[in-house]
Amino acid sequence: MSRELCTTAARTAILVLWAARQGAFPARECAPNSQPQKAMFLRLTLSALLATALAVSAADKPHKILFFSKSSGFEHSVITYKNGQPSYAEKILTELGDKNGWQFTFSKDGSLFSPEYLKQFDALFFYTTGDLTAPGTDKNPPMTAEGKQALIDYVNKGGGFIGTHSASDTFHTNNEANKGPDRYVNHGPLADDYVRMLGGEFIKHGKQQVAKMRCIDPKFPGLEKYADGFAFQEEWYSLKDFPSDIHVLLVQETEGMPDNEYQRPPYPATWARAVGKGRVFYTSMGHREDVWTNPIFQDVLTGGVKWALGDVKADVTPNLATAAPGALTNPPYVEPPPAKPAAKAAPEPAPTSGK
Ligand SMILES: [Zn+2]
Repeated sequence: MSRELCTTAARTAILVLWAARQGAFPARECAPNSQPQKAMFLRLTLSALLATALAVSAADKPHKILFFSKSSGFEHSVITYKNGQPSYAEKILTELGDKNGWQFTFSKDGSLFSPEYLKQFDALFFYTTGDLTAPGTDKNPPMTAEGKQALIDYVNKGGGFIGTHSASDTFHTNNEANKGPDRYVNHGPLADDYVRMLGGEFIKHGKQQVAKMRCIDPKFPGLEKYADGFAFQEEWYSLKDFPSDIHVLLVQETEGMPDNEYQRPPYPATWARAVGKGRVFYTSMGHREDVWTNPIFQDVLTGGVKWALGDVKADVTPNLATAAPGALTNPPYVEPPPAKPAAKAAPEPAPTSGK
């Protein structure tokens, strides 16, 4: 039974007990040694509880969301468990869940992914890295290939999917872990199935800096207050391989950003898209702890989650061509400087005399 349902049921039980004390049921009838009357009182109480339970509409039930944060690649500090405590992001999400009626399941166990496991959730929320079918950095159990397919199928069949930040640094096409020239190429229909479902892939990021997000669609849930865009300090992702059918919500303004990764026209940084019967929402934000507590990020995320859950509607007509016409122009690949030669080993101590 949900928390809200429990609360409502408890209130009803208190009302029934109060009514009993006020004489709605003769006091004698509640006496422990009056078995038939006691049974009747219990039946009345249970009937009232049942009626209340049935009266609570499905809309009042909390939505179940799986927050999955396995790191097969780099492990971000905001999703790391320290001393057995929930991660920083999990604490924030629990607070947002309490406000919005979302009940989170927090997991890093990829081996659980199957159609049966996923169907209990109203949405999946990824903050992951790397090839999740490999144990990788955090050594948590990986998905099977079938588990990955179950994820793609879940979305196509009508599920909600939310990705923050490194959800786009996950399942790289051709497993391009080395960030070589291939990493800077769009693969289009040949991109990894997960990338094609998400709607973009991480290339690389420069140093953390204050940069501007331009708002494309202030009508989208959560963006109503940010028609003029916003800026803050973050580790901004450079992304690629956007399919033409995404609905761009926020665009990364690249002008003035110094690093090589941003030497490109503005490109989508937050979007929504229909995938089969499902709904996918992604935002590149979410690296820093102070981003997770930033009301702007929380507004954008909350709106995106509500939309992905199907609680609020929005027009997600594809708009890539008008919102970010240069989106498929990626930054140039720059050969990294050659690694410094290893320091010379200290000379061996001279052998001591044998005498
Ligand atoms: Zn990051």
